[in-house]
Amino acid sequence: MLTKSVIVEQLYNLGIGKNDVVLIRADLGNIGRIEGGASGFIDALLDTVGKDGTIISLAFTKGSSFIKKPKIENAFEISKKSYAGALPNAMLRHPNALRSKHPMCSYVAIGKYASYLTADHNENSPAYEPIRKLIDLEGKCVLIGCVKSSPGFTTTHLVEADLGLLKLNVFPSLNRVYYKSAAEEYKIFKRKDPGLCSNSYYKFYSHYVNEGILQTGRIGKAYSIIVPAKESYRIEKQILALDYKFNICDSPDCFVCNVMRWDRLHKIPLFVVRKIIKKLFLMFKFASKS
Ligand SMILES: [Zn+2]
Repeated sequence: MLTKSVIVEQLYNLGIGKNDVVLIRADLGNIGRIEGGASGFIDALLDTVGKDGTIISLAFTKGSSFIKKPKIENAFEISKKSYAGALPNAMLRHPNALRSKHPMCSYVAIGKYASYLTADHNENSPAYEPIRKLIDLEGKCVLIGCVKSSPGFTTTHLVEADLGLLKLNVFPSLNRVYYKSAAEEYKIFKRKDPGLCSNSYYKFYSHYVNEGILQTGRIGKAYSIIVPAKESYRIEKQILALDYKFNICDSPDCFVCNVMRWDRLHKIPLFVVRKIIKKLFLMFKFASKS
Protein backbone atom coordinates (compact mmCIF):
# COMPACT_ATOMS: atom_id res chain seq x y z
CA MET A 1 0.00 0.00 0.00
CA LEU A 2 1.48 3.35 -1.04
CA THR A 3 1.10 6.01 1.61
CA LYS A 4 0.77 9.71 0.81
CA SER A 5 4.27 10.49 2.06
CA VAL A 6 5.81 7.83 -0.21
CA ILE A 7 3.91 9.16 -3.25
CA VAL A 8 4.91 12.76 -2.43
CA GLU A 9 8.55 11.70 -2.31
CA GLN A 10 8.27 9.82 -5.62
CA LEU A 11 6.50 12.77 -7.31
CA TYR A 12 9.26 15.05 -6.03
CA ASN A 13 11.95 12.67 -7.31
CA LEU A 14 10.23 12.60 -10.69
CA GLY A 15 10.55 16.38 -10.95
CA ILE A 16 7.41 17.94 -9.48
CA GLY A 17 8.24 20.67 -6.98
CA LYS A 18 6.64 23.34 -4.80
CA ASN A 19 4.63 26.01 -6.70
CA ASP A 20 4.65 23.94 -9.92
CA VAL A 21 1.78 24.06 -12.40
CA VAL A 22 1.43 20.50 -13.65
CA LEU A 23 -0.74 18.88 -16.29
CA ILE A 24 -1.12 15.23 -15.36
CA ARG A 25 -2.33 12.35 -17.46
CA ALA A 26 -2.26 9.07 -15.57
CA ASP A 27 -3.38 5.47 -15.50
CA LEU A 28 -3.74 5.07 -11.76
CA GLY A 29 -4.32 1.31 -12.10
CA ASN A 30 -0.65 0.88 -13.04
CA ILE A 31 0.64 2.55 -9.87
CA GLY A 32 -0.46 -0.16 -7.43
CA ARG A 33 -2.58 0.15 -4.29
CA ILE A 34 -2.81 3.76 -3.14
CA GLU A 35 -3.89 4.70 0.38
CA GLY A 36 -7.14 6.64 -0.10
CA GLY A 37 -7.45 5.60 -3.76
CA ALA A 38 -7.68 8.28 -6.46
CA SER A 39 -8.52 11.03 -3.97
CA GLY A 40 -5.51 9.99 -1.86
CA PHE A 41 -3.38 10.38 -4.98
CA ILE A 42 -4.79 13.88 -5.56
CA ASP A 43 -3.95 14.82 -1.96
CA ALA A 44 -0.37 13.66 -2.61
CA LEU A 45 -0.19 15.74 -5.81
CA LEU A 46 -1.53 18.83 -3.99
CA ASP A 47 0.92 18.33 -1.12
CA THR A 48 3.79 18.10 -3.59
CA VAL A 49 2.97 21.35 -5.44
CA GLY A 50 1.98 23.14 -2.20
CA LYS A 51 -0.61 25.85 -1.65
CA ASP A 52 0.79 28.03 -4.44
CA GLY A 53 0.93 25.19 -6.95
CA THR A 54 -1.69 23.97 -9.41
CA ILE A 55 -2.66 20.61 -10.85
CA ILE A 56 -4.68 20.27 -14.04
CA SER A 57 -5.94 17.34 -16.09
CA LEU A 58 -8.04 16.61 -19.16
CA ALA A 59 -11.70 16.02 -18.30
CA PHE A 60 -12.79 15.39 -21.90
CA THR A 61 -16.28 14.05 -22.53
CA LYS A 62 -17.83 12.15 -25.41
CA GLY A 63 -20.16 13.42 -28.10
CA SER A 64 -22.29 11.50 -30.59
CA SER A 65 -20.96 10.60 -34.00
CA PHE A 66 -22.87 11.84 -37.07
CA ILE A 67 -24.80 8.52 -37.28
CA LYS A 68 -26.40 8.97 -33.84
CA LYS A 69 -28.45 12.00 -32.89
CA PRO A 70 -27.19 13.67 -29.73
CA LYS A 71 -29.51 13.31 -26.72
CA ILE A 72 -30.35 15.98 -24.16
CA GLU A 73 -29.66 13.50 -21.33
CA ASN A 74 -26.04 13.25 -22.58
CA ALA A 75 -25.63 17.03 -22.63
CA PHE A 76 -22.44 18.50 -21.23
CA GLU A 77 -22.90 19.50 -17.60
CA ILE A 78 -20.22 20.70 -15.23
CA SER A 79 -20.65 17.38 -13.36
CA LYS A 80 -20.52 15.14 -16.46
CA LYS A 81 -18.20 12.14 -16.08
CA SER A 82 -15.03 12.26 -18.17
CA TYR A 83 -13.84 9.33 -20.30
CA ALA A 84 -10.24 10.27 -19.46
CA GLY A 85 -9.93 7.97 -16.43
CA ALA A 86 -10.05 7.85 -12.65
CA LEU A 87 -7.75 10.83 -12.03
CA PRO A 88 -9.80 13.60 -13.71
CA ASN A 89 -13.04 12.12 -12.34
CA ALA A 90 -11.66 12.15 -8.80
CA MET A 91 -10.40 15.70 -9.39
CA LEU A 92 -13.93 16.70 -10.47
CA ARG A 93 -15.22 15.49 -7.10
CA HIS A 94 -12.66 17.59 -5.18
CA PRO A 95 -14.29 20.54 -3.36
CA ASN A 96 -11.79 23.06 -4.79
CA ALA A 97 -11.91 21.82 -8.40
CA LEU A 98 -12.75 24.18 -11.25
CA ARG A 99 -13.75 22.92 -14.68
CA SER A 100 -13.74 24.75 -17.98
CA LYS A 101 -16.98 24.83 -19.96
CA HIS A 102 -15.89 23.46 -23.34
CA PRO A 103 -18.68 20.95 -24.15
CA MET A 104 -16.27 18.15 -25.19
CA CYS A 105 -12.73 19.16 -24.17
CA SER A 106 -13.04 20.56 -20.68
CA TYR A 107 -10.11 20.73 -18.24
CA VAL A 108 -10.26 20.30 -14.47
CA ALA A 109 -7.83 22.16 -12.24
CA ILE A 110 -7.16 22.64 -8.52
CA GLY A 111 -4.89 25.26 -6.97
CA LYS A 112 -3.58 28.79 -7.39
CA TYR A 113 -4.01 29.09 -11.17
CA ALA A 114 -7.08 26.83 -11.52
CA SER A 115 -9.33 29.80 -12.23
CA TYR A 116 -6.92 31.32 -14.79
CA LEU A 117 -6.43 27.99 -16.60
CA THR A 118 -10.11 27.11 -16.88
CA ALA A 119 -11.61 30.60 -17.42
CA ASP A 120 -13.01 31.57 -20.82
CA HIS A 121 -12.68 28.06 -22.21
CA ASN A 122 -16.10 27.28 -23.58
CA GLU A 123 -18.10 26.32 -26.69
CA ASN A 124 -16.45 29.18 -28.63
CA SER A 125 -12.88 28.20 -27.77
CA PRO A 126 -10.41 25.97 -29.59
CA ALA A 127 -10.00 22.74 -27.61
CA TYR A 128 -6.35 23.11 -26.56
CA GLU A 129 -6.13 26.78 -25.47
CA PRO A 130 -5.63 26.00 -21.73
CA ILE A 131 -2.36 24.33 -22.78
CA ARG A 132 -1.16 27.72 -24.09
CA LYS A 133 -1.83 29.14 -20.60
CA LEU A 134 0.06 26.20 -19.07
CA ILE A 135 3.04 27.09 -21.29
CA ASP A 136 2.81 30.77 -20.30
CA LEU A 137 2.92 29.71 -16.64
CA GLU A 138 6.10 27.67 -17.30
CA GLY A 139 4.10 24.54 -16.44
CA LYS A 140 5.09 20.91 -16.77
CA CYS A 141 3.45 17.90 -18.44
CA VAL A 142 3.52 14.52 -16.70
CA LEU A 143 2.58 11.01 -17.82
CA ILE A 144 2.13 8.48 -15.03
CA GLY A 145 1.67 4.84 -16.00
CA CYS A 146 0.54 5.62 -19.54
CA VAL A 147 3.85 6.41 -21.24
CA LYS A 148 3.28 3.59 -23.77
CA SER A 149 -0.48 3.01 -23.72
CA SER A 150 -1.45 6.67 -24.25
CA PRO A 151 1.75 8.23 -25.51
CA GLY A 152 2.78 11.85 -25.69
CA PHE A 153 1.92 15.25 -24.31
CA THR A 154 -1.09 17.42 -25.03
CA THR A 155 1.24 20.20 -26.19
CA THR A 156 1.44 18.31 -29.50
CA HIS A 157 -2.27 18.84 -30.14
CA LEU A 158 -1.78 22.58 -29.58
CA VAL A 159 1.13 22.52 -32.04
CA GLU A 160 -1.09 20.76 -34.60
CA ALA A 161 -3.71 23.48 -34.12
CA ASP A 162 -1.14 26.30 -34.38
CA LEU A 163 0.41 24.85 -37.55
CA GLY A 164 -3.04 24.48 -39.15
CA LEU A 165 -2.69 20.69 -39.28
CA LEU A 166 -6.15 20.07 -37.82
CA LYS A 167 -7.46 21.19 -41.21
CA LEU A 168 -6.18 17.84 -42.49
CA ASN A 169 -9.31 16.28 -40.96
CA VAL A 170 -11.61 15.15 -43.77
CA PHE A 171 -14.77 15.30 -41.63
CA PRO A 172 -13.95 17.74 -38.83
CA SER A 173 -17.45 18.22 -37.41
CA LEU A 174 -18.57 14.61 -36.94
CA ASN A 175 -18.88 14.81 -33.16
CA ARG A 176 -21.79 16.66 -31.61
CA VAL A 177 -23.20 17.13 -28.16
CA TYR A 178 -25.81 19.26 -26.40
CA TYR A 179 -24.70 21.95 -23.97
CA LYS A 180 -26.51 24.65 -22.00
CA SER A 181 -25.93 28.16 -23.30
CA ALA A 182 -25.50 31.22 -21.05
CA ALA A 183 -29.25 31.81 -21.58
CA GLU A 184 -29.88 28.31 -20.12
CA GLU A 185 -31.03 26.91 -23.47
CA TYR A 186 -29.89 23.58 -24.85
CA LYS A 187 -27.86 24.02 -28.02
CA ILE A 188 -25.90 21.62 -30.18
CA PHE A 189 -22.12 21.92 -30.16
CA LYS A 190 -20.15 20.59 -33.14
CA ARG A 191 -16.47 20.13 -32.52
CA LYS A 192 -14.55 21.56 -35.48
CA ASP A 193 -11.01 20.86 -34.27
CA PRO A 194 -10.63 17.20 -33.33
CA GLY A 195 -7.00 16.31 -32.63
CA LEU A 196 -5.15 14.03 -35.04
CA CYS A 197 -4.13 10.49 -34.06
CA SER A 198 -1.84 10.50 -31.02
CA ASN A 199 -0.69 6.87 -31.21
CA SER A 200 2.52 8.05 -32.87
CA TYR A 201 3.47 10.61 -30.23
CA TYR A 202 6.02 8.19 -28.70
CA LYS A 203 8.18 9.16 -31.72
CA PHE A 204 8.86 12.48 -29.99
CA TYR A 205 10.36 10.76 -26.92
CA SER A 206 13.86 10.36 -28.40
CA HIS A 207 13.84 14.04 -29.39
CA TYR A 208 13.01 15.11 -25.81
CA VAL A 209 15.92 12.95 -24.63
CA ASN A 210 18.29 14.40 -27.26
CA GLU A 211 17.41 17.89 -26.08
CA GLY A 212 17.80 16.91 -22.42
CA ILE A 213 14.31 17.94 -21.32
CA LEU A 214 12.88 14.54 -20.31
CA GLN A 215 13.05 13.25 -16.75
CA THR A 216 11.87 9.79 -15.80
CA GLY A 217 10.92 8.00 -12.60
CA ARG A 218 8.45 5.65 -10.98
CA ILE A 219 5.31 6.42 -9.07
CA GLY A 220 4.61 3.14 -7.30
CA LYS A 221 5.02 0.59 -10.10
CA ALA A 222 4.17 3.07 -12.85
CA TYR A 223 6.93 4.25 -15.18
CA SER A 224 6.48 8.00 -15.51
CA ILE A 225 7.94 10.91 -17.48
CA ILE A 226 7.89 14.70 -17.17
CA VAL A 227 8.83 17.62 -19.46
CA PRO A 228 8.56 21.41 -19.30
CA ALA A 229 5.53 22.27 -21.49
CA LYS A 230 7.28 25.19 -23.20
CA GLU A 231 10.15 22.93 -24.30
CA SER A 232 7.99 20.02 -25.48
CA TYR A 233 5.87 22.50 -27.49
CA ARG A 234 9.01 24.02 -29.06
CA ILE A 235 10.47 20.63 -30.04
CA GLU A 236 7.18 19.25 -31.40
CA LYS A 237 6.61 22.44 -33.40
CA GLN A 238 10.09 22.30 -34.89
CA ILE A 239 9.57 18.70 -36.00
CA LEU A 240 6.01 19.02 -37.31
CA ALA A 241 6.77 22.27 -39.15
CA LEU A 242 9.44 20.40 -41.14
CA ASP A 243 7.48 17.15 -41.52
CA TYR A 244 3.72 17.38 -41.01
CA LYS A 245 3.41 13.62 -41.54
CA PHE A 246 5.63 12.83 -38.54
CA ASN A 247 2.50 12.24 -36.43
CA ILE A 248 1.08 9.48 -38.64
CA CYS A 249 1.06 6.18 -36.78
CA ASP A 250 2.30 2.93 -38.27
CA SER A 251 -0.94 0.97 -37.95
CA PRO A 252 -2.59 0.16 -41.30
CA ASP A 253 -5.80 -0.33 -39.27
CA CYS A 254 -5.84 3.21 -37.85
CA PHE A 255 -9.04 4.89 -39.06
CA VAL A 256 -7.78 8.42 -38.38
CA CYS A 257 -4.42 7.99 -40.14
CA ASN A 258 -5.76 6.01 -43.11
CA VAL A 259 -9.21 7.46 -43.80
CA MET A 260 -9.70 10.76 -41.99
CA ARG A 261 -6.73 12.81 -43.28
CA TRP A 262 -6.81 14.64 -46.61
CA ASP A 263 -3.16 13.75 -47.18
CA ARG A 264 -3.87 10.02 -46.65
CA LEU A 265 -6.92 9.46 -48.85
CA HIS A 266 -4.83 7.22 -51.12
CA LYS A 267 -4.66 4.76 -48.18
CA ILE A 268 -8.44 4.20 -48.15
CA PRO A 269 -8.53 1.34 -50.73
CA LEU A 270 -5.92 -0.68 -48.81
CA PHE A 271 -7.69 0.09 -45.51
CA VAL A 272 -11.03 -1.14 -46.90
CA VAL A 273 -9.52 -4.28 -48.48
CA ARG A 274 -7.81 -5.15 -45.17
CA LYS A 275 -11.12 -4.74 -43.32
CA ILE A 276 -12.96 -6.99 -45.81
CA ILE A 277 -10.26 -9.68 -45.69
CA LYS A 278 -10.27 -9.61 -41.89
CA LYS A 279 -14.07 -9.96 -41.83
CA LEU A 280 -14.03 -12.83 -44.35
CA PHE A 281 -11.29 -14.56 -42.34
CA LEU A 282 -13.36 -14.29 -39.15
CA MET A 283 -16.50 -15.57 -40.95
CA PHE A 284 -14.53 -18.51 -42.35
CA LYS A 285 -13.03 -19.29 -38.93
CA PHE A 286 -16.49 -19.15 -37.31
CA ALA A 287 -18.07 -21.34 -40.06
CA SER A 288 -15.32 -23.96 -39.85
CA LYS A 289 -15.78 -24.16 -36.03
CA SER A 290 -19.56 -24.63 -36.09
ZN1 LIG B 1 -3.06 6.63 -36.35
